[in-house]
Amino acid sequence: MDSAQDQLIQALLKAISRTSILAEGNNPELDALLQSLRANVARTQDPQVLQRDLQAIEPYVLKFDDERLAHAQAFRNQLFDLLDSLDQIPGKQVPLQRKKLVQADIRSHWQSISQWPTLLGQTVELLNSTLSQDTNSTKPSFLGRLFGKKTERPALTSDNDIMAHVSHTLAGLLSDIALPDTYEEQILDIKQALTGNSNLHHLPALLDEVINLIMVAVGKTQADLTSYLNQLNDQLASINASIVTNYKAQRGMSSTRKDFNETLQDHVTNTHTDVRNATNLDSLKGLIDERMHTITEAMKQYQSKMLAQEKQAAQSIHHLKNKVSKMEHDAATLRTHMQQKAAQALADSLTGLPNRAAYQETIFPLLTSAAQNQLPLCVAVCDIDHFKNINDTWGHLAGDKVLRLIPRQIQAELKKEHVMFRYGGEEFVIVFPMTDLEKAYAICERVRQAVEKTPFNVHGEPISVSISIGVAQFNYVESHDDLFSRADKHLYQAKGQGRNQVIRDN
Ligand code: GH3
Ligand code: MG
Ligand code: MG
Repeated sequence: MDSAQDQLIQALLKAISRTSILAEGNNPELDALLQSLRANVARTQDPQVLQRDLQAIEPYVLKFDDERLAHAQAFRNQLFDLLDSLDQIPGKQVPLQRKKLVQADIRSHWQSISQWPTLLGQTVELLNSTLSQDTNSTKPSFLGRLFGKKTERPALTSDNDIMAHVSHTLAGLLSDIALPDTYEEQILDIKQALTGNSNLHHLPALLDEVINLIMVAVGKTQADLTSYLNQLNDQLASINASIVTNYKAQRGMSSTRKDFNETLQDHVTNTHTDVRNATNLDSLKGLIDERMHTITEAMKQYQSKMLAQEKQAAQSIHHLKNKVSKMEHDAATLRTHMQQKAAQALADSLTGLPNRAAYQETIFPLLTSAAQNQLPLCVAVCDIDHFKNINDTWGHLAGDKVLRLIPRQIQAELKKEHVMFRYGGEEFVIVFPMTDLEKAYAICERVRQAVEKTPFNVHGEPISVSISIGVAQFNYVESHDDLFSRADKHLYQAKGQGRNQVIRDN
């Protein structure tokens, strides 16, 4: 035996034994054959036996290769399909040059499973930047469209269509990835989430999960990448939540909005820092930066929209305030005017006393109250004696002067609860609430004497004037007219008996 050849055979057998372990876990029948091969390598080392084992294994290896090729072809087709779907997005232009580059990359590397995450990343990036194009504005804003144009229903509907297509394609892609059984449940969850998803908000998270799974599929579970993506997703989710919450509370105080903007800015700054620190993830940095940019754009739009709304609201409130204060001013003016009119209507312009209309307004409530409380009330009717003579002798202006002065003489004798009215011409009425006939009579008598004693100076000459008075007490059951005419009757009686006297009820 050639010992060198012996050694070579030993080394080859060892290699067969070791590499067979790598192939295990794909198929139970193949696993059995591989175990038998290893056992035979260890036991017999008989070339014929080993030859038989290897022949039995060969179809599985070929089949495995075929399957791998089929998976890779399916993956390639899905990516091409995704790229083609970009052309169907209404109102969007796929950046042609970039699309061609991505297509070229897919054509060169689709068979290399380790390149799958990169290829998918490029496709998703292109999808993102196509979707984020603003048809009539300056800068693309994929998320900006989410947050900034919520009210535009037609745009959202077409976004939903796009979402449905993208989600289904990604779900199909997942079906074609060869993953260990332990991931079965996770794949099912993501596929369900994808097919049921029509919400652009969920897309970033779902995309990241798909990329994670593909990393697993190609055996490159980069812990850094996974935790980085998770962290990023958390941030995106919380930013999203902040925006949605604040949108709902947009009628709140402006300070709340200011806080919101500060919080959001912090989020964005933190995420930018994370992106900078993630040095080994160049392919994803572009994508993440793009997202951050679109969020910043969305934030700016949101802020300026809020400011505009606030300004508008402030203006309309200001307008409303002016309107209200003008109305208040008008109402106050009107009220004053009406009060003046009413006061004028109830006052006598010559004497300043309340007039007959005022008497009518006053006497009835007083009578009701007196009757209800059984409190005495008297009414006195006064009339200047021979007043016509004064007018005739000294002139009308002298008469006016006397008419103005006599009420002052009378009021000097009254208490504050006694009310005097100019009833008409040279007639006055005095109402004595809570006063019985004796007291009212006594006051009237003092009034009569005061007037009698006072000389009125007319054109430098003293004139003596007298008044006659009739007094009656309210008996609680009679009408006002009965009471008044009784007092009036007493007055005429006083006139008839020679004037300058007071007559009362018997
Ligand atoms: P008697 O003692 O019976 O009451 O006689 P009299 O002259 O006072 O009564 P009469 O009713 O005949 O005259 C009242 C006069 O009072 C008639 C009217 O010209 C005058 N008079 C009424 N109102 C005014 C007024 O506002 N100013 C002036 N200057 N005179 C007035
Ligand atoms: Mg008179
Ligand atoms: Mg008279």
